[in-house]
Amino acid sequence: MEQAADMKGSSSQVRPASWYRDSVQVELAPCEPLQGEQHADVCVVGGGVTGCSAALHLAERGYSVVLLEAEDIGHGASGRSGGQILPGLGTDIATVEQALGPETARRIWEMSREAVRLTASLVDRHAIPCELSWGYLHAAVKPRHVKELETFRDSLSRNYGYHALEWLEGQALRDHLVTDAYPAALYDHEGGHLHPLNYTLGLARAAQQAGARLHTQSAVRRIRRGEPVRVETDQGAVTADTLVLGTNAYQLGLVPELSGRIMRAANYMVATAPLSDAQAAQVLPRGDALSDANFVLDYYRLSADRRLIYGGEVSYDGREPPKLEARMDAKIARLFPVLAGVPIDYRWGGDVAITFNRAPDFGRLGANIFYAQGYSGHGMALAGLAGKLMSDAIAGYGQGFETFAAMPHRPFPGGRWLRKPLLVLATHFYKLRDRL
Ligand SMILES: Cc1cc2nc3c(=O)[nH]c(=O)nc-3n(C[C@H](O)[C@H](O)[C@H](O)COP(=O)(O)OP(=O)(O)OC[C@H]3O[C@@H](n4cnc5c(N)ncnc54)[C@H](O)[C@@H]3O)c2cc1C
Repeated sequence: MEQAADMKGSSSQVRPASWYRDSVQVELAPCEPLQGEQHADVCVVGGGVTGCSAALHLAERGYSVVLLEAEDIGHGASGRSGGQILPGLGTDIATVEQALGPETARRIWEMSREAVRLTASLVDRHAIPCELSWGYLHAAVKPRHVKELETFRDSLSRNYGYHALEWLEGQALRDHLVTDAYPAALYDHEGGHLHPLNYTLGLARAAQQAGARLHTQSAVRRIRRGEPVRVETDQGAVTADTLVLGTNAYQLGLVPELSGRIMRAANYMVATAPLSDAQAAQVLPRGDALSDANFVLDYYRLSADRRLIYGGEVSYDGREPPKLEARMDAKIARLFPVLAGVPIDYRWGGDVAITFNRAPDFGRLGANIFYAQGYSGHGMALAGLAGKLMSDAIAGYGQGFETFAAMPHRPFPGGRWLRKPLLVLATHFYKLRDRL
């Protein structure tokens, strides 16, 4: 694995800063670029939730840790996301059941709930100012979604003992969500949302306080496998017993065998100007987060200063979809006419890593390289757990990492040249289906 990773040309580098960057509340100790030779028990690559959680949990266990981030902490999806903290995976739990059987699927479901609890406990334990709040709506858009959500709720209750889902329609739904756009929704008492960049920075700060050395503007260009493993940047190198990769969609070819298992897709967000109390009460009066039940889904929530933070739309080639601004604005206007005239203050995008089956891809490359990637748009809680599970596995404790790693994954069909066009075709199919 001696492939140079060209970090230039990333579409994300030219996107405007997000509202999150302008509302940072967590200050880190200086994270100078890596210079010269360093040694560590564990080198972590990637300063998103996966990497920061791994660094934190490893440092708390007494390992010496160096974390290398190509840009700034939270530069990737973790600092740009919708901030929804949800149980479950990016795929239906039935997919896991088919691949690994009901018992393992139940363990994975329970770990996805643990991921949410872990997020809350990290926020609490490290006093991270990230506006964590609870309540999540999974909303039907079409009549067929109503049936699908009912089946989903019944199956989770019957087979997984999950009873946190409440059925909402009519006035009960309107108490949570003031629009006629959705015939029904499931209210998940265990789901919530937070400011994703402050959360990521909070994990990084906690990792620093536990002794981890963090270096930003330190893109890893080359990994020389072996025991120890050697990781090289333009101005330095780290030699370590173990390597943790938390680079997700932003990896850009550093480890080709991992890039082939994920598809990079851009997703887009806006933040409105702060709403008045009266306007907020006409949108999400209880402050819940929401995702709709479409395959190419839209999601939103209110920030603590009552901005509507709205996400949706997708691109697989790094180019902005046609008429993106107009499409996003029209969706908001259709859902909430009361917001007519409220300006959009921020627009940004970020990249998710999607696996073929949409289940996260955890594993090892040889004995001493661990990775977790491919959360398929559902990683804000899971990535924190992934970091902890990698720390457990490195310490030789627990089976959680191996349980996730048992999930079979395959590269996208079509090889290097055809996989994107094939995925675009498939997405067009699902977009069409979403309209029916
Ligand atoms: C717009 C958007 C909305 C989303 N909304 C939600 C949501 O509401 N709920 C949810 O659960 N999930 C959501 N997701 C997905 C979620 O954000 C991700 O699954 C999660 O943040 C992944 O975390 P990560 O640490 O693995 O990756 P990232 O946060 O992407 O971090 C990877 C880091 O690795 C660094 N890196 C890459 N290559 C190198 C290298 N060679 N050297 C050094 N550093 C490198 C990158 O710069 C980056 O900072 C969303 C994603 C996006 C983009």
